[in-house]
Formats: sequence, C-alpha cells, structure tokens
Amino acid sequence: MISSIKNYLSENTVLLIRMDDIAENMNWSLMKKCEDLFDELNIKPLLGVIPKNADPELLKYDKSDNFWQEVRNWSKKGWEISMHGYNHVYGTKTYKKDYFNYGGDSEFFGLSLSDQKIKIKNGLEKFIKEDIQIRSFFAPNHTYDLNTFKALGECGIINIIDGYGIFPYSYKNLNFIPQLFYKEIMLPFGIQSTQIHLNYWKEEDFKNFEKFLRRHQKKIVSFDNILNKVKSGFFIYSINFALKNCIKISRTLKRSQKL
Ligand SMILES: [Zn+2]
Repeated sequence: MISSIKNYLSENTVLLIRMDDIAENMNWSLMKKCEDLFDELNIKPLLGVIPKNADPELLKYDKSDNFWQEVRNWSKKGWEISMHGYNHVYGTKTYKKDYFNYGGDSEFFGLSLSDQKIKIKNGLEKFIKEDIQIRSFFAPNHTYDLNTFKALGECGIINIIDGYGIFPYSYKNLNFIPQLFYKEIMLPFGIQSTQIHLNYWKEEDFKNFEKFLRRHQKKIVSFDNILNKVKSGFFIYSINFALKNCIKISRTLKRSQKL
C-alpha cells in the first residue's frame, strides 16, 4: 500500500517555472540563454510580465525596443504570460499584515478596492492592446490584502501564482498555485511553482538552473497542465486519496500492534 501511495505521489509531483520581473528593462542576455534552454528542453514557463514598469531598481537594466513583440513570441510558443503587478512601484508597507504575512513593501496592500481595481484594469488593458491573453496574476513582493483578491475577481482574474501549501487550492472563488521557495527546489511531492529572478543572477546561478532543469525536466509542466488538474478537481481527489490511505495504514499498524 505504501508503495502505491509513493507511486501516486511521484506521478503527481510537478513544478511550474515562474519567472519574475519580466519587463522592457531586464537582464536580456540571461533571458536569451534561458529561452534557448527552455526551447531545447521543451519547457513552457510562466512569465510574470509587468505591464507598465516604473520600478527605479528595474529601470537600471538594459531596455528592449521590441519588448511587446518578444512577449507575443513567447506567448505563441505556449509560454504563459501572467500579470505581475501594474507598475511594480512599492507605495505601502504591510508590517506583516498582508494576506500571506510576508511583510515588507507592497504595490497593492492597503490601497482602497477602487484604487486596486484601477491598477488591475489598467494593466489588463495594456495586455489587451498588445494582443496578449492574461489568465493569472501575482503581486510584487507576494503582498496582497482581501481587497486585492476582490479586485482581481471583479476584473475576471481567478488564478493567483502565490501562496503556501503543497497543492493548489481554492479560496474566495480564486485558485492559488503555491510558490514556496526562492531557489529551485523539487519537493518529494506536491505541485508548486518556483520563483526565478534573472536580474539578480550571476553566471553561476544560470549554470545551477540549467543543471536543475536537465535533472527534473520530466517533472516540469506548463500552466495549462496545472490548470487542467485544478479544473478536474484533482487536488480534492488527491487529498482524499492520501487521507484514506493514511487511515488505512494507521488501522493496519494498530491491528499489528495488538497482535
Ligand atoms: Zn517582482
């Protein structure tokens, strides 16, 4: 029985590659290297694109003159384009009162519902103008409050690439696909997204990333793959499956202790 659980978990252990801070200004030479690697290994990452980047830290990087054409090209390859904030400028502090208790600065936390909605709407309009479909969102610095979720829902975005846990879950009619680690880590089970910040990488980090991808290539899936599992109720089934088998094991153990 234990081996059947092990097999089940192994078969359903996958990772989505989430790339953060994709904008006109970024580390383009490393992005090109990642793109070649993804193409070679047939990996379809999720890119967190900032629709109207005004973050002074990010503006220091090289600018691409045909950024939106690049985004359309990535989208055509089946890479998922996600909205990462609106302008990535931090205007509030959360004092750990943000929804996930990360703390730190925020672009959204503490703003009124209507202000948050305006940001999200303006971001979505930019993507529509550039002919890019958006189905998901994640906030800069992981910082949300309940108004952020309400604003997203009201703007028709129901998938958030953030949160704790080992499986995606639903809350307030939104799907959360957890993101736990800052480094590429393959958990022994569960469905996760990883967080990649190319701008802070050195050559050595790219080499480690390449090694990681080659090693876990078969476990890396697209956003669509995870979305299909969410839609099919796979996660509820998985939790029930695990619970049922844990109960069975504990009963078997109790019985054997009595013998
Ligand atoms: Zn960011």
